[in-house]
Amino acid sequence: MALISGDSLERVKGAVDIVEVISAHTDLRRQGSRWVGLCPFHEERTPSFSVDAQEKLYHCFGCGVGGDAIKFVEEKEGLDFAEAVELLADRYGVELVRDKEDPRAEARRQQRRRLGELLDRVAVFYAACLWDSEEAAKAREYLAERGLGEEALRAFGVGYAPSAWDTVLLRGQRVGFSVEEMRGVGLAQRGKSGGEYDRFRSRIMFPIRDRRGRTLGFGGRAMRSDQGAKYVNTAETEFFHKSEMLYGIDLAKAAIAKAGRAVVVEGYTDVLALHQGGVEEVVGVMGTAITEEQVAALSGMVDEVVLALDADAAGQEAMLRAQRVAAGRRMRLRVAAMPAGEDPAEMMAAEGGPERFRALLEGAVELTAFQVGLVLDRTDAGSPAERDRALAEVAPILAGLGESASRDDLVRRVAERLDLEPAMVMGRVTAARPLSGGADRAPGERQAAPAPRRAAELTSRERRERALLAMCIALPDEGSEYLARLTGGHLSPLGARAAAWLRQHPRDPASDLPREDAELSGLIAELVIVAHEEPASPEAMELNFLLLEQRRLEAEIAAAGERDDYERRAALSRERAALVERIAHAERVEG
Ligand SMILES: [Zn+2]
Repeated sequence: MALISGDSLERVKGAVDIVEVISAHTDLRRQGSRWVGLCPFHEERTPSFSVDAQEKLYHCFGCGVGGDAIKFVEEKEGLDFAEAVELLADRYGVELVRDKEDPRAEARRQQRRRLGELLDRVAVFYAACLWDSEEAAKAREYLAERGLGEEALRAFGVGYAPSAWDTVLLRGQRVGFSVEEMRGVGLAQRGKSGGEYDRFRSRIMFPIRDRRGRTLGFGGRAMRSDQGAKYVNTAETEFFHKSEMLYGIDLAKAAIAKAGRAVVVEGYTDVLALHQGGVEEVVGVMGTAITEEQVAALSGMVDEVVLALDADAAGQEAMLRAQRVAAGRRMRLRVAAMPAGEDPAEMMAAEGGPERFRALLEGAVELTAFQVGLVLDRTDAGSPAERDRALAEVAPILAGLGESASRDDLVRRVAERLDLEPAMVMGRVTAARPLSGGADRAPGERQAAPAPRRAAELTSRERRERALLAMCIALPDEGSEYLARLTGGHLSPLGARAAAWLRQHPRDPASDLPREDAELSGLIAELVIVAHEEPASPEAMELNFLLLEQRRLEAEIAAAGERDDYERRAALSRERAALVERIAHAERVEG
């Protein structure tokens, strides 16, 4: 990936209107020099989310998130840094210049762009075939029978792959793509005799696009009964990884952000039918279970995911792994149980279906409770052997919940249904190993930054150091003196990193946040916003500094005591006595 030049980056930052960017996700209203609103990252009733339009920063005093517009887009749209910059550059009309890079990387990027163009062109071709070709009549009929209208089909770019062996191969070559390139993106494959042919033939084609609407692969539904697999997807390619893809995300992302939840279904036509029926916050997972990668992709966008999947059939291990990833990201996974033998598309097409589907969504239950319920429903509580089997099945599920109120609730429910003592059930749960290890991080899951600390969780020292550091920004002249006096002994590890950052960037701490240290960037954004909002005075700075100094001395006194260094301890204690007097004086001055 070519590096975006520092100059372009500056121009993007200059052009961005952070209030506008954030307003797409939460209503902001002006309050003095800042904008406030309900936090789009956590559930709250009173606004603790603050946006500084001049500094172009945001910070939530409730959950602690914060950063600049790029960071906001990264988090909310699930993009990486370069993608977020590209999106903002696009939106604010800034042309990005890239620094010279390794020619091989440059060539790869060019090639990737070229293959992206190939996939987009083929998607357009398939769509034209669906609407215009004689051969696709049966496909059009099938889609109409499923209740899917032209508007939705066109929005999702649904198409048709003709039955000939080489339509795409020939057309692709005619416009300059090689057979190898077409194989590389999964459009062509090699037969046993060595010849190449189109991978998709006589199929309804669903382009699978990324968040930005770029086609990365296809799903194809067979139109003839002799075609073997009913559904064929693009094989894994350099940039198509099925387990990470969410079908329909490009069209759903705005509705997902607005609704604060995502509805997850299995099939392509389910996504289309729901979207058409007004449930627009819907994506498809192209499998019976949601993967950890898909959960990770949704996190940051939503607090809640409702699975309208065949959860009965989905692998329990896979679901519980997904559940754990969700829990680690403060996201709820719930299940809307579909009636047996009916999928969401069928339901939406039936009379009264949309209302029934909405009622199912509202009645969705936590995934774990749902799975425990499945086991209990299958169990004949009258038979001791059955009760034993059920207990063996639910114990590892419940063990995965850790100590929690919902675990205790479920334990009570299991005990009641199986007619056992709750203590006995709990004993089995605590003895059980949670399914699938627990501690292992999911493959492909990004290393999550430690969650920002909520204001209420801060120690008094952390609150003090944050107040002092913010004042160092508000009053930079005094600030540089205090920054010079502050040492590691005064500060928490994160506070020490922030102090070092402020020493290096005394006038413009937020103009170029440290990307590689998410915790630090969040804190710097917070400090700058606090610096603008809270009163600062040299007296208050002095008092905060002295209180931190007192903490430092106390730690030293304790350490000297542990070394049995009584002389040092006595000297430090005298210092502390003098300090306590200065603090009392400073408190009177500060009032
Ligand atoms: Zn928040």
